Amino acid sequence: MDTQPDCIVIGAGQAGLAVSHCLRAQGVRHVVLERRRIGERWRSERWDSFRLLSPNWQTRLPGHHYRGPDPDGFMTGGEVATLLERYGQDAPVRTGIDVTAALPHDGGWLVRTGSGSLWAEHVVIATGHLTAPRTPAVASALPADIRQLHSSEFRSAAELPPGGVLVVGAGPSGQQIAADLAGAGRRVHLAVGGHKNLPRRYRGQDTYWWMDRLGMLSRRVDTLPDAAAARRTPNAVLAGGRADLNLHQLVQRGIVPRGRLTGVDGATLHFADDLAASLHAADANAARFCTAVDDHVREHGLDAPPQSVPRPTTGWANDTARTLDLTEEDINTVIWATGFSSDYTWVKADVFDAVGDPIHRRGVTSAPGLAFMGLRWQHRRSSHFLDGVGRDAEHLALRIAVERDAGVRVAA
Ligand SMILES: Cc1cc2nc3c(=O)[nH]c(=O)nc-3n(C[C@H](O)[C@H](O)[C@H](O)COP(=O)(O)OP(=O)(O)OC[C@H]3O[C@@H](n4cnc5c(N)ncnc54)[C@H](O)[C@@H]3O)c2cc1C
Repeated sequence: MDTQPDCIVIGAGQAGLAVSHCLRAQGVRHVVLERRRIGERWRSERWDSFRLLSPNWQTRLPGHHYRGPDPDGFMTGGEVATLLERYGQDAPVRTGIDVTAALPHDGGWLVRTGSGSLWAEHVVIATGHLTAPRTPAVASALPADIRQLHSSEFRSAAELPPGGVLVVGAGPSGQQIAADLAGAGRRVHLAVGGHKNLPRRYRGQDTYWWMDRLGMLSRRVDTLPDAAAARRTPNAVLAGGRADLNLHQLVQRGIVPRGRLTGVDGATLHFADDLAASLHAADANAARFCTAVDDHVREHGLDAPPQSVPRPTTGWANDTARTLDLTEEDINTVIWATGFSSDYTWVKADVFDAVGDPIHRRGVTSAPGLAFMGLRWQHRRSSHFLDGVGRDAEHLALRIAVERDAGVRVAA
């Protein structure tokens, strides 16, 4: 762009591209700065066997609806990246531009990059809510010869040293990676903390179909008793496809479950005695979901084949070992499926809470002209999903256009 933009969008994932689409519809001059390539995280931070948890038909972005041959299928990471690249082909994206700082300047925002600075009245931070891989402090106590990697760095069993693997974290990434490794013939140990189970399908429909139908995905953040807690709650364990994924199954496949990892003492790892409690809580989530569907079916007189709520036995979870000797078990790799935190230290504004998360209303902060896109529970449960970011993008773009036309910038 040769002329001065009204707005600078940082990040060309689904959030940045969706807001760009809506800004174009509003005639707002803007540029999208992306440090690597469009849809980068789907290319370089997902494992080879990764598939979306959400079905293809739920890939609904402003101006784009899935129209392919397999609406009930689940895209690979590469397919999502290709989709986003096509979606963003007319967007004013500049790739290879790493933004190093955004700071208030001269009534607007100065955006510093590795190749010069830009200024605009509005800046939209769309750099992703999962930016900084998080590993627990005990990671530094592991023996030096153990290969450690975060789930975002895992690609396939073939790239790991031979021998067993300990996966720490039993959310969707941890359980999918554990299943992937077991499928490749690896001996896998899984350290299990708090997580939530859901059946993949229930009463003849995919769980995401039910969540959509029951309005769970469009639930607004201001209806929650504790929004901060909801933003920290792990996503339910699911895998793309028609099959369930949960600990019961993984144990049947030979994966060795443990409680939460509590400490490292040389090659000996210690685990809490909490596996049964974690499993019980995870299964209770699945049971609650099934009950909500049953109630909905009854209230609306839907024709959905009855299905009994799964009540798996959990006795095996009571007598798992509390220690693990990496050497004895020939474990040479530890994969941290322990989530991400956000890193906005480069955004120079007083709009962050004690843990560094943005304080905002529908993405708009108290700093005039500074907004965020794609945050978890930004406005609704689906705000950070491919299917939900669009509504927030439309809202934000309209607001930016109105402010531009009025010549004012209103803070939250
Ligand atoms: C394992 C996993 C599975 C998921 N599965 C699903 C699913 O099935 N369905 C679903 O709807 N959602 C899913 N999500 C959630 C969500 O869709 C993704 O997290 C998605 O990538 C978020 O999109 P985004 O545009 O907000 O951020 P990102 O995809 O993270 O995009 C941000 C972009 O900003 C760029 N960037 C970052 N910092 C800078 C900088 N300083 N300067 C310039 N550019 C920068 C990055 O390179 C990146 O391209 C999943 C997430 C994970 C981690």
